[in-house]
Amino acid sequence: MATQTNVPVFDGHNDLLSRLWRSPRGSSETRFIEGGDAGHIDLPRAQKGGLAGGLCAIYVASPSVEKDANGDFSTPSQPSALASTLGMANLLMRLERQSQGRLKICRSAADVRNAIDSDVFASVMHIEGVEAIGADLDALYVLHAAGLRSLGPVWSRPNIFAYGVPFRFPSSPDIGPGLTESGKDLIRACNELRIMVDLSHMNEQGFWDIAELSDAPLVASHSNVHALCPHSRNLTDRQLDAIRDTGGLAGINFGVLFLRSDGIRNPDTSLDLLVDHIDYVANRIGIDHVALGSDFDGTTIPAAMRDAGDLQLLVELMRQRGFDEAALAKICHGNWIRVLETTWGA
Ligand SMILES: [Zn+2]
Repeated sequence: MATQTNVPVFDGHNDLLSRLWRSPRGSSETRFIEGGDAGHIDLPRAQKGGLAGGLCAIYVASPSVEKDANGDFSTPSQPSALASTLGMANLLMRLERQSQGRLKICRSAADVRNAIDSDVFASVMHIEGVEAIGADLDALYVLHAAGLRSLGPVWSRPNIFAYGVPFRFPSSPDIGPGLTESGKDLIRACNELRIMVDLSHMNEQGFWDIAELSDAPLVASHSNVHALCPHSRNLTDRQLDAIRDTGGLAGINFGVLFLRSDGIRNPDTSLDLLVDHIDYVANRIGIDHVALGSDFDGTTIPAAMRDAGDLQLLVELMRQRGFDEAALAKICHGNWIRVLETTWGA
C-alpha cells in the first residue's frame, strides 16, 4: 500500500524498548533504525504501515519466569527495577540521538502533532509498573524531568503502590485490594506533574480508587472488552462507562489472549475480532473514546498482521466495516492526541 494513503496510527502501547533491551546492547539502535530485525516494530516497518508513534513502555520483567505460589507473577526489587528502568530510558534517548531526527521523545501534545506531521516517529516515554520508584517518589520527579509523561502504577503483579490484576481466564478483574497509601500519593503527584496514569494492568478496585482520586481523563492504554473476552485484563461495561464519563479512552489490544472469547493463545485469529472490540467500544461509549493499543513486541497477535508494517490492513478492515474517514482518524490518532493534550495541558 502506498505511503500517502496510510492513515497515521498513534498507538497506546508497545514493548519495543524491552525487546531491544533484552538483546545485546551495541546493536539496538541499528536494528531499530535500519530494520530487518525480529519483533513487530522498527523504523522501516513503522513507515510502511503508517505507525506514526506511540507510548513506548519501559517494562521490567518479573525476576523469574516461574510464577509464585499463587500462580502469579513475582515483583522485581526497587534497586534492580531502577537500574533496568534507567537503562531503557537511556536506550530511548540513544534511539532519538542516533535516528538523526527520525524519532522524537515527545513531551507535549504539540510535540506529538509536529512529529506526526513531519513523518518523525512520535515516541512517548511510559513506564509499565513503577517498581523503580520508591515511596519517596524521588525517581518520579527525576524521570519526569528526563521526559516521562505516562505511567501505569502496576504491571500484573503487586508493588508498593497497588495490586496489579493477575492474568486469569475466565475471570472478573475484581481481584484483590486497591491503591495503597503510597499509591494515592503517586496518583496525586502524577496529577500535579500532569503525567498520564494508565489503568490497563490495575485490578478493578485500583481502577475505581484512581477514578475517585484522579482529575485526569481515565485511560486504559491497551485493554479490551470483557463482554467479548472475559479475561481479567479486560474492561467491564461499568469501567468503559467511567472512561466515557471522564473523556478518556480505551486502546484496543491486538493480543489474541485479550481478543478471543475462548482465551486461547492462538495466532490463527481473525482481524475481524479486533474490529469487533473496536466496534463494541464505539457503540457503547462513543467514537471519541476508542483508540488503539497494539501491544506490539509484547504479545502474540493475529498471524494475519505480521508486524507494524501491516497496520493498514486493520485500517482497511475498519473501513470495510463501516467506519468513515473521520472515525478512522479519531480511532487511529485523534483520540489519543486529544486525551494527551487534556492530561498534559496545551
Ligand atoms: Zn501491558
